[in-house]
Amino acid sequence: MRLKGKVAVITGGNSGIGLATAKEFVANGAKVAIFGRSQKTLQQAADALGGDVMAIQGDVRKLADLDRLFVESNKRFGQIDVLVANAGIAKFAPVETLSEALFDELSGILFKGAFFTVQRALPYLRDGASVVLIGASDADKQGRMMTSIYTAAKSAVRALARSLSVELLPRRIRVNVVSPGMTDTPIITREGGMPGMTPEEIAALITKTIPLKRRGRPEEVAKAVLFMASDDSSYCLGAELMVEGGLSQLVNPV
Ligand code: NDP
Repeated sequence: MRLKGKVAVITGGNSGIGLATAKEFVANGAKVAIFGRSQKTLQQAADALGGDVMAIQGDVRKLADLDRLFVESNKRFGQIDVLVANAGIAKFAPVETLSEALFDELSGILFKGAFFTVQRALPYLRDGASVVLIGASDADKQGRMMTSIYTAAKSAVRALARSLSVELLPRRIRVNVVSPGMTDTPIITREGGMPGMTPEEIAALITKTIPLKRRGRPEEVAKAVLFMASDDSSYCLGAELMVEGGLSQLVNPV
């Protein structure tokens, strides 16, 4: 019960890593507000989670939606102890054809969304709260074909953890990053295609490059988020915890 009585807000808590994190938090005694665009999966997630959970529909690109998220969660649960900025998409395209619309969608959700999730939460965050941003393990370490804007946006998220931690020092709010490697969630089949390859083909190709030779499970990432969310990580500020089967840290032995 590492979050007993604590209040947590998780964007993208209706699927994949966010949903696994919500489950882990509920199991550890937290009251949890989840946020996403799909009313259907929000309702399914809230039903499956049980516990003290509320679901709020909205888009992280819209500041009015974020304000409503924090007003409503505050009304029901009070001040926030843990904020997880997890909402994300994964779409890829070659540099020559990447459209302005895709640039705006990726940077809007991954970068602008993460920044304003934290900014709009500030009036509702308890002093000493923990903010966890979800990055991507090798985004700022290795180049990969067709991932330019996705990895640039995730690198920006990694940088935010450092700068926001400095600015929020007076309130002892810690901002850290948990960076998954390839993890089995709906993101892979829903969006993970690249021109000329199916999502399954890409997933199989990337899996070969992972030293552990398997993809991660959302529950494995959720355990790392729990660590960063709880007082167990009280000495971590602006840090990044990789949950990636060694992807960006080891030279692959094949
Ligand atoms: P999922 O697709 O399972 O979950 C993504 C979540 O984000 C959904 O709940 C989705 O809900 C929500 N979301 C997406 N766009 C918005 C938006 N504009 N506003 C509000 N919510 C939104 O994917 P994952 O669980 O895999 O992804 C979670 C995070 O992990 C993402 O940031 C992703 O980039 C990161 N990540 C994942 C990896 C993987 O291999 N799975 C690898 C590295 C990083 P809805 O559609 O209802 O809005």
